Amino acid sequence: MDLADYVDRIWDGRLSVEEYHTGSPREEENAARLHADGLSTVAEGVAFWPARSNVVVFETGEGLVLIDSGEKRTWPLFWEHLRRWSDLPVETVVLTHGHPDHTGGLWGLDEEAERAGRPKPHVIAHEAVPWRFQKYERSFEYNAIVNRRQFQDPTITWPAQYRYPDETYCSHFELRRAETVFELRHGRGETDDATWVFLPGQKILCCGDFFMWVAPNAGNPQKSQRYVGGWATALRQMMALRPEMLLPGHGFPIFGSDRVQTALGDTASYLESLERQTLKLMNEGASLDEVLAVVRAPEDLLTRPYLRPVFDDSEFLVRNVWRFYGGWYDGNPARLKPARDRAVAAELCALAGGARAVVGRALELEQSGDLKLATHLGYLAALASPDDEFAIESCSRILAKRAEEERSSMARAIFAEAAVRVRNQPAG
Ligand SMILES: [Zn+2]
Repeated sequence: MDLADYVDRIWDGRLSVEEYHTGSPREEENAARLHADGLSTVAEGVAFWPARSNVVVFETGEGLVLIDSGEKRTWPLFWEHLRRWSDLPVETVVLTHGHPDHTGGLWGLDEEAERAGRPKPHVIAHEAVPWRFQKYERSFEYNAIVNRRQFQDPTITWPAQYRYPDETYCSHFELRRAETVFELRHGRGETDDATWVFLPGQKILCCGDFFMWVAPNAGNPQKSQRYVGGWATALRQMMALRPEMLLPGHGFPIFGSDRVQTALGDTASYLESLERQTLKLMNEGASLDEVLAVVRAPEDLLTRPYLRPVFDDSEFLVRNVWRFYGGWYDGNPARLKPARDRAVAAELCALAGGARAVVGRALELEQSGDLKLATHLGYLAALASPDDEFAIESCSRILAKRAEEERSSMARAIFAEAAVRVRNQPAG
């Protein structure tokens, strides 16, 4: 596959997002196609491994420098392709953040070094990466649960142990390997421990997950705080350096300064718009309910081939802006120290004349296309009458329909999982 030609086709809108988004339902197929060609040389001494989680490799006068190490499960394949591209030892690995799909290959690199009787690679990361690893060690079961739900894959496991970096830095770090200079910068976006790397000599930018060929996943309902404004700030800092090649953590390289500026600038504008609108309302004393009703994503930006909202949902980003500047209190006092969901459901269904009456109205709303309200009423009825098969089935159907109609895979997955769960184990 000619990478530059492939990127041209994406850029011009000749490929659908399902074909190139590595997290799409056609992920396995996409990944197999990507992996087949191995490493692509994108500049002299620079290779890019397009995978579900990419790896960038630099040949320097002091061995290979890797940006990220890829996933654990694809590591053997990566190693095979790497050895075809260069037989220099891997001396240094820079981690763009601590997510397992970027750090999972470190074990393999250590083992290979040991087998060859060489020192293990020197791993450099932001100082918050060890904190992230500690957090994961305490919550790996939770992370397995939410990632199975998010990716609708019951086989997903989450690592219980991590390969820690050998060296960490705070805000800036200059890494020099023979003639090659790598400038590492800390930023907050998808995570609080992110590093982006700029090579001033070649004007190459390795931005990690700050750019991933879909609308930024700065919302994710099931994960810890993400940074909408910080993400935009980092993108603007990258643009100021006028990179000529962008090698992202997911998706494909972007070649040429104009395209790189456009892609980074549009992504920053999208994030800035959501943060600006949300903050304005917060400063006016609005509740979260009002904020969610008023703030709108700039839809024109979401039509760009690199900003389709097929992974995260703009509404989830708004919630993370709220959580970053505020807390979890949403302005509704009933929810500050609430009654159990099941107790509220029982009261409301009794007032309405029974769960069946509530289900009936939920189905009317479903028919009229108001799936949001239909979900509220359907779920109330299911909670109030967990033994009523009709209520449970109706709720499950509404949730399944909701899943079908969502654009973002995160929203789709949560509704789809709830449609199944409500049948087996109504919540409350
Ligand atoms: Zn990633």
